[in-house]
Amino acid sequence: MQKSPQLTDRHVDPRNYPPGVAYMDGQYLPIQEAKLSVLDYGFLHSDATYDVAHVWNGAFFRLGDHLERFFRGMGELHMNIPYSKTQVAEVLHNCVALSGLENAYVEFICTRGTSPNFSRDPRDAENRFIAFAIPFGSVANEEQMKRGLHMAVTDVLRIPPSSVDPTVKNYHWLDMVKALYAAYARRADTAVLLDAHGNVSEGPGFNVFAVKDGVISTPDLSVLLGVTRQTVFDLCTEAGIQCNAQDISVAELMAADEVFVTSTAGGVMPVSRIDGQPIGAGDVGLLSKRLMALYWQLHEDDTYREAISYSKSSRL
Ligand SMILES: *Cc1c(COP(=O)(O)O)cnc(C)c1O
Repeated sequence: MQKSPQLTDRHVDPRNYPPGVAYMDGQYLPIQEAKLSVLDYGFLHSDATYDVAHVWNGAFFRLGDHLERFFRGMGELHMNIPYSKTQVAEVLHNCVALSGLENAYVEFICTRGTSPNFSRDPRDAENRFIAFAIPFGSVANEEQMKRGLHMAVTDVLRIPPSSVDPTVKNYHWLDMVKALYAAYARRADTAVLLDAHGNVSEGPGFNVFAVKDGVISTPDLSVLLGVTRQTVFDLCTEAGIQCNAQDISVAELMAADEVFVTSTAGGVMPVSRIDGQPIGAGDVGLLSKRLMALYWQLHEDDTYREAISYSKSSRL
């Protein structure tokens, strides 16, 4: 068969991959060698759940919370893997240690997997566990962190909880991608989607927060219960700041003094404009700045840290 060099080189050239290490089908592999069967239902049907934890300065942050959410998600989706939480944690530690990365984005996935003779009954499939560590990435780049993200409120509805449970982290992303294209067409950096009642839900991989008169709020329904979202609740409790999980209308979002978004990929990230309108003074708000600082300080707290032992393994 004739190969098309322009097309295939992109997919096999190791220079097109970030550095990193994956674990799949019982083996540790350089990231560019971690490949999946096209017959895996994780790929064909987005039939999968996953989680993303991060490593900062050589230690996992709140890994236990990510593992908890991942195992709960697998339970909800009737998936099983032959590893305990402790064993998954060990695989994740090994991926990071083998990669040598001090700051890493660590994703772990359970797909429905493949089934004998391509049976369409999900109960026949053998679920597959995959994990990988690549360099830490952020929703907002350095410039956006400084000036605040420019967000668009799209009319795209987040897939409703009655269709796909948003509290199970999933790859039903076509609504997110549609919203991103709508946002780019309006020269925004990113998008926020709405719930079935027209209230704010979440954006591509992040939760949304609004600040009004010193009180913080974030949607409670139609959203993933983010670990970073939980960290904001915890920081607010500690600092005596009121933070409520409640509906936020689009009008309330636009009229907020400050808006920020949260994700494992980037932490607390400021929003300075929505639909071209400045939020507050149109720069990074004071409370947002304070929470950003507190968030990174918390990474030094031993309660949440799990150090990687890099010396045990030689780099892959
Ligand atoms: C992962 C994710 C978030 C953020 O959750 P964190 O645990 O804070 O990273 C928010 N919304 C969606 C849809 C996500 O997939």
